[in-house]
Amino acid sequence: MAKFYCKYCGQEFGNVRTLTSAYCIRHPDGPNKGKHTLYEGSEKSKYTCKFCGQQFNNLRSLTSAYCLRHPDGANKGRHSPAL
Ligand SMILES: [Zn+2]
Ligand SMILES: [Zn+2]
Repeated sequence: MAKFYCKYCGQEFGNVRTLTSAYCIRHPDGPNKGKHTLYEGSEKSKYTCKFCGQQFNNLRSLTSAYCLRHPDGANKGRHSPAL
């Protein structure tokens, strides 16, 4: 069965409908200020932050850490996965 991941928090869902209907604690507008958003890249063994290039074993750890090269400023936001 396919798995779908939120690009903000890395949470895993069985389908896109459930993913996009629930609030995301790591939404860029603030915790639970918006819904989970689909990560449209492929499943990988390593995920790379598109801002800084740091690599992570999974989306959950990537999205949980602040990024030194975030476009809003150093540590003003979290890592974001490259597709
Ligand atoms: Zn989410
Ligand atoms: Zn980063």
